[in-house]
Amino acid sequence: MIQKVLVANRGEIAVRIMRSCREMGIKTVAVFSEADRSSMHVRYADEAYFIGAAPSTESYLNIDKIIGVAKQSGADAIHPGYGFLSEKASFSERCAAEGIIFIGPSAYAISTMGDKITARKTMIAAGVPVVPGTTDKVTSEKEALAAIKEIGLPVMIKASAGGGGKGMRLVKRDKDIVGSLRAARSEAASSFGDDSVYIEKYIDSPHHIEFQILADKHGNTVHLFERECSVQRRHQKVVEETPSPIMTPEKRIEMGNAAVAAAKAVNYSGAGTIEFIVDDNLNYYFLEMNTRLQVEHPITERVVGVDLVKEQINIANNLELTFKQEDLRQHGHAIECRVYAEDAENNFMPNPGLIRHLTEPYGFGVRCDGYVYEGYTIPIYYDSMIAKLIVWGENRDEAIERMKRALFEYKITGVKTSIRFLSRIMDAPDFRSGRYTTHFIENNLPFLLAEGDFDGKGAQLYEDVAVMVAFFDYQSRLTAKTLRWAPLKSSIWKHIGRRKANTEM
Ligand code: ADP
Repeated sequence: MIQKVLVANRGEIAVRIMRSCREMGIKTVAVFSEADRSSMHVRYADEAYFIGAAPSTESYLNIDKIIGVAKQSGADAIHPGYGFLSEKASFSERCAAEGIIFIGPSAYAISTMGDKITARKTMIAAGVPVVPGTTDKVTSEKEALAAIKEIGLPVMIKASAGGGGKGMRLVKRDKDIVGSLRAARSEAASSFGDDSVYIEKYIDSPHHIEFQILADKHGNTVHLFERECSVQRRHQKVVEETPSPIMTPEKRIEMGNAAVAAAKAVNYSGAGTIEFIVDDNLNYYFLEMNTRLQVEHPITERVVGVDLVKEQINIANNLELTFKQEDLRQHGHAIECRVYAEDAENNFMPNPGLIRHLTEPYGFGVRCDGYVYEGYTIPIYYDSMIAKLIVWGENRDEAIERMKRALFEYKITGVKTSIRFLSRIMDAPDFRSGRYTTHFIENNLPFLLAEGDFDGKGAQLYEDVAVMVAFFDYQSRLTAKTLRWAPLKSSIWKHIGRRKANTEM
């Protein structure tokens, strides 16, 4: 049985994994880069080891260093989290070769699903519907023109090694085919070191719906229902919810079965996600499989009542799943908002920096998976997501109101965040209707970025006051007797409360 887990990641996901380990009595080992010396995951772990300079190629992607730490610390397993090494087949293989348990699927499953062209072929063979398009890679302009003639415009040109919304080009007009093909291939080559691309039909106004899978090493595979992930910006998810507001009970069974078949086709073990693109008539097509834990996994945990990280560890320990498909139910509704340190009004520019003040939301039905704290400086080197806010409600309406309440309570000063933008999403009529597509954000941008008292309850006003208070507080401390900056021992809010109570100040 696994006794000690090295978490080869940082940020909120590293902390989230360590939390489950702690509950299971498993010791944890953190690795950290130069930029992460004071990061939360380093403080949370039982042991922490420095692995290199800030750029991830020198630290979080450095397989030799990470394996070295695993050996030095006596970790018997490695959890890769998401991103970084989580979908590198060579890392899974290396762990196996070194006698370290990789908490994830086999190298074979990762590499088959990691190459989108191979994945498409495997799905076709397994009888899972894929988006109509080419089954082989397209190298010449002639091939591309012939394929597009058959598929019909509009089409997507996609990198076989793609991910994170990169290496994708939408083509609507004949005259753009050649330029887009070249652009997609060169972006694929520079981002992934592989210029293979394929072409698929562009599904108009689609929904992105994915199914969570768990499979043990004894042939048991179940799905934990769907997540609706159509609130996207530049093909990246921003808000996710479950159940999907457009799903029907019959489709859920049909798509769930297809997802299980997809996982079985690669002998999958562990937690994974089958992503589908779905049109308005609920026709669904396999997009890709993510062979790891997803960012948005907590909404499934909340609605189904399963700790996915514990299940991953149990599966890695060769244990059988303790439930069957018919034991699983969806209870209530969960929504996740990804909170970024970014400036929504300024083209969503990342805005890393010092967190001066932080109040996270609590209360019934609220989970906040974060890693930043007051006085922490968000490094510039990594993803600017600082937390995931997850709420649960008895039904969708209650979940939306609870999310709005939690976003209202969430106060961060020092860096700009997407909190206000997320609250606007909760208010948008298209989101409320539940019938939104992947174009929701682009179609609603003026509403989502509008100024003013956005929820009628004074949240915007409150935020403005917070900024003003912070500014005057800063000024007053600068002009104190010594004329030196006097750091506060407690938060600004506490300080102001104390001042009010203490009239001689
Ligand atoms: P990545 O691996 O880069 O995340 P995906 O294949 O998962 O790429 O697609 C990401 C998103 O791009 C989807 O959620 C969807 O919004 C959009 N997309 C991808 N393929 C299509 C398609 N054929 N038609 C319409 N939209 C698509």
